[in-house]
Amino acid sequence: MPDPTEGITDVNDLPAPQVVAYNRDHQQTPCPRCEQPASRHKSGKRTLHDLGNLDTGHPVDLLVAYSSHHCGYCKKHFNIDLTDLAPPGSHYTHRVIDLAVRVVVEDGLPYRSASWHLWRDHRVFVPFGTLQNWVEAAGKKGPELYPRRVSGLGA
Ligand SMILES: [Zn+2]
Repeated sequence: MPDPTEGITDVNDLPAPQVVAYNRDHQQTPCPRCEQPASRHKSGKRTLHDLGNLDTGHPVDLLVAYSSHHCGYCKKHFNIDLTDLAPPGSHYTHRVIDLAVRVVVEDGLPYRSASWHLWRDHRVFVPFGTLQNWVEAAGKKGPELYPRRVSGLGA
């Protein structure tokens, strides 16, 4: 048995993620500029690392099917809103980020320990450099601007 306090040295040693399909591929969605219904012109996929499955010990990845739309009024393309799931460009869901920030800020764990804690107790692997970025970003926004989100997603 490896010493767990050494943490994770090789991401390739992690158990394979369980992939959970999440569908937000809609035929129409309101344009964020003019709020007129905008038709889908293509579909895409995005992987988001979520909190893991403690029963199986495996990490969980959400495979999000999303739609891209075109607004005929604004003549603009845009992707359907996923900001309730994850920040733009993020590889992790909000609930992973919120939990990670709490572990560092409220529990006072150093980044490396927090990274190990998240793996051990929540089966989500977050490199400590990523943790540091999140905590610094949350600190800039202030706690009141980083509300806890309640997600209806089942793991
Ligand atoms: Zn529009």
